[in-house]
Amino acid sequence: ARPLLEIRDLNLDFGTPRGCIHALRNVSLDVPAAQVIGIVGESGSGKSTLAYTVMGLLPENADVTAGSILFEGKDLLKMPAQARRSLRGDRLSMIFQDPMTALNPVRTIEGQMIDIQHHEQGTRGEKRARAIDMLRRVGISDPRNRIGAYPHHFSGGMRQRICIAMALLVKPVLLIADEPTTALDATLEVQIIHLLKDLQREIGCSVLFVSHHLGAVAELCDRVAVMYAGEVVEQGAVRDIFHNPGHPYTRALLECDPGRIRKSTRTLPTIPGEVPSLLGSKKGCIFHTRCPQAFNRCLQENPVEYRIGVDQVARCHLHDEERLVSA
Ligand code: ATP
Ligand code: SF4
Ligand code: MG
Repeated sequence: ARPLLEIRDLNLDFGTPRGCIHALRNVSLDVPAAQVIGIVGESGSGKSTLAYTVMGLLPENADVTAGSILFEGKDLLKMPAQARRSLRGDRLSMIFQDPMTALNPVRTIEGQMIDIQHHEQGTRGEKRARAIDMLRRVGISDPRNRIGAYPHHFSGGMRQRICIAMALLVKPVLLIADEPTTALDATLEVQIIHLLKDLQREIGCSVLFVSHHLGAVAELCDRVAVMYAGEVVEQGAVRDIFHNPGHPYTRALLECDPGRIRKSTRTLPTIPGEVPSLLGSKKGCIFHTRCPQAFNRCLQENPVEYRIGVDQVARCHLHDEERLVSA
């Protein structure tokens, strides 16, 4: 079957007074139906930019210079603004790092949860009942009484649960979660991850899960894409990437004690060297300034994606060299 979301050769620039920032470079990524795809990478690698591009929530200075994003076979980038708006909060929904991005501080949870169902059938009373049920499912106790409260009556963790309830109330086919647990402590994070997994299975939606917690990704995701400086440098099944990483950057991320990654909620380790500036055009592999295995070709030529397993690709010349040696 055709993937739900197909991102092809996406390139995006931000215009800034200092020049053009190439925030996404030739990004290609599939999100199959009912699967959870993790996006990992250091700060500034373009994870949120990718998420916002799919949602159609880019700032004014963003310019998609090439590529397509097919959602259910239709190119989101060619859709009129009105059509994109009506997809949001219906077939597409999003959970943000800060729950207050999605919540209105001066309205009750009830009003907001009823409004978000404007695409759904049913009376106000039925929508209220659905909202109460969803609040109960995400672990808000006594939802019948508390639904009338305002966001500030809830703790940060509770607000994030409310946002998850709101995002899932519309029964999206694709949920985008941009670091939804970063603001929470480790115990709450584990609870939220389990909650997301349960609800995803039940609703059968796909999830694009942006995170710098490798443990959370291992726990929740079927597939993972590793981003570096605006490129997806490696992608594949979670098991393959974590056990047999094919890109030196992925290996660097996993190097410190891979055994712990599955269970811990450890954040991305810091790897030596500096992230390249995204200003101006680049020659060669984007990772060559930090790569312990860089060789001549890496400074000249940007690697293409090499297939290195049944379901795993990596952008690194080493895989081409291997092929040449074994041929
Ligand atoms: P983090 O883990 O910190 O959330 P990220 O991977 O989500 O990072 P992005 O926020 O997508 O990274 O940023 C990618 C690059 O684009 C960064 O260099 C960032 O500074 C730049 N950028 C993001 N938004 C804008 C903007 N509105 N104008 C100019 N540059 C931007
Ligand atoms: Fe390192 Fe070269 Fe591979 Fe880039 S192409 S990751 S510099 S070995
Ligand atoms: Mg981000």
